[in-house]
Parts: sequence; C-alpha cells; structure tokens
Amino acid sequence: MTTIAVLGAGCSGLAAAHVLQDAGWQVTLFEKSRDVGGRAATRSREGFIYDHGAQYIKPGAPASISWITGRFRTPDLIDIEKPVWVFNGQGEIQEGDAEQNAEEKWTYRSGLATLAKQMARGLDIHLETRIDHIRKTPQGWWLTPEHGAEQGPFSRLLITFPLPQAQELLEKSQLEPGLQGAIVAQLGAATYRPLLSIMLGYRPMPQRRPYYALVNIDKAHPISWLAWEHEKAQERVPSGAGLLIAQMAPDYSREQWEREDSELVRESAAMVAQLVQEEGLATPIFSDVQRWRYALPDQKADSEQLHALTLPAGLAFCGDGFVGGRVHRALEHGIQVAQQLLYPKSSRVHQ
Ligand SMILES: Cc1cc2nc3c(=O)[nH]c(=O)nc-3n(C[C@H](O)[C@H](O)[C@H](O)COP(=O)(O)OP(=O)(O)OC[C@H]3O[C@@H](n4cnc5c(N)ncnc54)[C@H](O)[C@@H]3O)c2cc1C
Repeated sequence: MTTIAVLGAGCSGLAAAHVLQDAGWQVTLFEKSRDVGGRAATRSREGFIYDHGAQYIKPGAPASISWITGRFRTPDLIDIEKPVWVFNGQGEIQEGDAEQNAEEKWTYRSGLATLAKQMARGLDIHLETRIDHIRKTPQGWWLTPEHGAEQGPFSRLLITFPLPQAQELLEKSQLEPGLQGAIVAQLGAATYRPLLSIMLGYRPMPQRRPYYALVNIDKAHPISWLAWEHEKAQERVPSGAGLLIAQMAPDYSREQWEREDSELVRESAAMVAQLVQEEGLATPIFSDVQRWRYALPDQKADSEQLHALTLPAGLAFCGDGFVGGRVHRALEHGIQVAQQLLYPKSSRVHQ
C-alpha cells in the first residue's frame, strides 16, 4: 500500500487526502494547529462565533461545488443572501456588482470551519503537530515534528502550507542539494500579503443595512473589507448583540503590524464608525485581533514547473499559492494534485 504524509489540514490538504484515501492509499495528515481548516477558520469567544479568516465560499468548478453541496454537505450550509456593496477612499458607498452579487456566497450557520470539520471525518489527522523539517532516504520521506519523535518513512509527501512557510521548511531540510535549491527557488516566486483582521462586537446590534458587507474598490482606504458577521446567522452573536469584521488593507496591515491590539481596535472602530456614519460603532463591547502573516497570495508559483522537479522524488505541493486565494480554488487544487500523484504519467507535467 502506498503511504503518504500530508502536511497541513486546510481545505487543500483535506481535499487531497480524500482523493488519495479513496484510491486506497494510506494517508496521514499532520497539522500544527489545534483544529483543522487553516485559513477557512472559525473562532468562538464570549458568545460570538466568527470567521476570522475566509468569509464565505463562492461556487467554483464542478468538483468543489459537488463536494460542498453533496459529499460534504451539512444542514448548516447557508447562502448569505444580502449583497456586497462597494466604497472608495473617500468613504462613498454604492451598490456592488449585480453579476457578482447574483452568485451564491456559502457559509455555515455555526462557522465556515464546518466544511473542514466535515471533511476531517474519517481521516487520520495528527493535530498540534508542527513539522519542523523533513529528510529523504532510500526508504522514503521522514518528518521531524517540533516536539516528539520522527515520523516515517512515507513513500510520498504532500506539502500544503502557504508557500513562504513551505520554503522555510525546505530550507531547514535534508534533500539532494541541487533539488533542494531548485524547489526553494520555485516556491520563492510566490508572494503573500499580510492582513489584520479586527473583530468588533456591539450591543445593541448595529443598524440594519441593505448589504451584508462592504468592499473597498479603489484600494485607497485603510479598510479593505467590512462585514456584518451577524447577518450570517443569529446564533453567531449573543442575544441583542452584533459583530463587525474589519479586514485592513495590506499597506495599513504592514505598517501597523506591531501595534498593541487595544490601539488597533480603537483606531479601526473609529474608522468603521466614520465610514458608515454610525457613531456607536466607535465603542465596541468585544474585540479580537487576528494577524494573518500570509493571508492571500499576490504572486502565484507555477505548480507544473515545480512538480516536474519534485514528482519523480515523490514530493508534491498544493494550496492557494498556486491558484489564488480562495477556498474553492485551494480545494480544487488539492484534488488536482492528488490525481497527479495517483496518475503521474497522465498528468500534463509528464506528457
Ligand atoms: C483574512 C482572510 C480572508 C479570506 N477571505 C476569503 C473569502 O472570503 N473567500 C475565499 O474563498 N477565500 C478567502 N480567503 C482565502 C482562503 O482562506 C484560502 O485561500 C484557503 O483557505 C487556503 O487553503 P489552503 O489549504 O491552501 O491553506 P491553509 O488554509 O493555510 O492550510 C494550510 C495548513 O497548514 C498548516 N501548517 C502550516 N505550517 C505547518 C507545519 N509546519 N506543520 C504542520 N501544519 C502546518 C496550517 O496550520 C494550515 O492549517 C481568505 C483568507 C484570509 C486570511
């Protein structure tokens, strides 16, 4: 039986794991966090339940649609009906793009992480296991976690992290020197932007609006995205309360990265109040700050070029760093790379 270690249990790793397990491979996942889902994550604090990373999933290719609405469907799946409107650097708000707003925006009543939790069922996942470095011997791939004993050998290895983190892992690892340098160079083509995600809870609930969220279209405002999280489901907030999520623009996030959470909350809440002209929003009763160092890819790496180098060694990579920062794209890429691992001769790389 072919054995494979999948590093990372975000949507791409979970998707790949299912395709490989379906084909009879023995799959073991290693995830550094306490839970699965990666950047499609949900947090629950003080009665507020919120998606501090990805906000919702758009319908993509048939493969991800059929998994989300079929194989891994839960009764919890909902479409956010209200539209997304737009604003500019001057804070002028207008209706958004009708075509984009006509598309579904999927999430789950109890949080976006429901998808990953559903996909995690039936998989062998080692949580809270950060892999520090890897090595290759004639017997296969070996993994050294930050704590605990070396794991292996595995005949194949699939790495699914944001690519700068994959690059760090490879730099610390023991591979054939020429191959290692070439992989690191390919991974280095991808760049990611940082993002400060600021959660602001209120009682009473903020004013009702004709939109679910606002997006900045001219990239001239320190806030790039502002969402009324309680619009997803009433259960997301304590009775009578509401929750807004402000995702800050890349430049603002970079410049303000080191500031205290309390200062970030004060400043962003004041901006939110001014943007939507609602004074009460300057004083939240609850807040949380998430710093995403590698939030979304700006420049992608080329997975076909990379796999031409690595597949012969039984090593593969998948995730949004190759296809763009969207949950459905990461999931689809996981499926695609798993198929390349299963049928290497028929993949375009080897034609
Ligand atoms: C703030 C924000 C907003 C977003 N909004 C949207 C949106 O509205 N819609 C949308 O479709 N997409 C959105 N995205 C993008 C989407 O979340 C990602 O594209 C997608 O979740 C990436 O999945 P992935 O499996 O490629 O990577 P990840 O989800 O990052 O999974 C990689 C996993 O690897 C683990 N890992 C990392 N290092 C190690 C290690 N050394 N050892 C073991 N495990 C490790 C991580 O903990 C993680 O679980 C957003 C992202 C962010 C951050």
